[in-house]
Amino acid sequence: MSRYCTRLAPSPTGYLHLGHARTFWLAWERCRKVEGRLVFRSEDLDLARCKSEYVQASVDDLVWLGLDWDVGPVFQSKRKSVYRIYLRRLIEAGFVYPCYCSRKDIAEAASAPHETGDEPIYPGTCREGNIDEKKMNRKPCWRFRVCDTDTVSFQDKHFGDFVFKPGKDFGDFVIWRQDDIPSYQLAIVVDDYLMGVTEVVRGEDLLKSTARQILIMKALGWKTPAYFHCPLMLDEKGNRLAKRHKSLSLREIQGQGVDPKELLKSFKLEAMNWGRAH
Ligand code: GLU
Ligand code: ZN
Repeated sequence: MSRYCTRLAPSPTGYLHLGHARTFWLAWERCRKVEGRLVFRSEDLDLARCKSEYVQASVDDLVWLGLDWDVGPVFQSKRKSVYRIYLRRLIEAGFVYPCYCSRKDIAEAASAPHETGDEPIYPGTCREGNIDEKKMNRKPCWRFRVCDTDTVSFQDKHFGDFVFKPGKDFGDFVIWRQDDIPSYQLAIVVDDYLMGVTEVVRGEDLLKSTARQILIMKALGWKTPAYFHCPLMLDEKGNRLAKRHKSLSLREIQGQGVDPKELLKSFKLEAMNWGRAH
């Protein structure tokens, strides 16, 4: 069996909040328990949305919390040429196709509203290559072709069994963006594979992304890692925490003089209540 390896993968688009802290702590805890290898990976591909002050803050805040890691920080923005190799491989094997649709085209053709934060289900306009000539002078994005009759199933170490239906839960998804940036889905899969990640610990909000990533891994002939999805942390009104909840950012909490050991204790208690977490 290969040595346990997981990662802390913050996106430096804002300050980390309590929900991130709990997920990262759990990844760290699961890794340290088995003397595994922990990678810190900064998911800073979208340079327009990421800021260097948030990169530094994510490092400082996790150190304040008492976490450490064995590899990194590794920056995804420096690895574009690596992701491009696998884009080519997927194109050559026929798993992805160029899509010339604008955001507006897709919004107009989409039949169902999409969940907030998720990409709309692609209506399939460019799937068969019958592309409107007017659109051809635009640069394409590249989409992964999902099979509507397929299902993606996996066993999550916290929530148990999941089955997702491509075509219904998500459509043909972007692998490489029109502005020449690899998509989150591709970059994650390539990194997790090349870095030897054996278990992905992430928030429940990424379940459908996990299903998409399993499809990419299968297309590339790679073994999928194990998954542990953490229940989302909610605010006092029952809404999910977001980077806009300034008061719950680790920055703010540090400023209030909170003892990080107490915070970790509360995460531990919470995780124990999940029952199967330990
Ligand atoms: N960077 C992602 C986030 O902060 C997490 C990536 C992952 O777990 O795959 O939401
Ligand atoms: Zn299209």
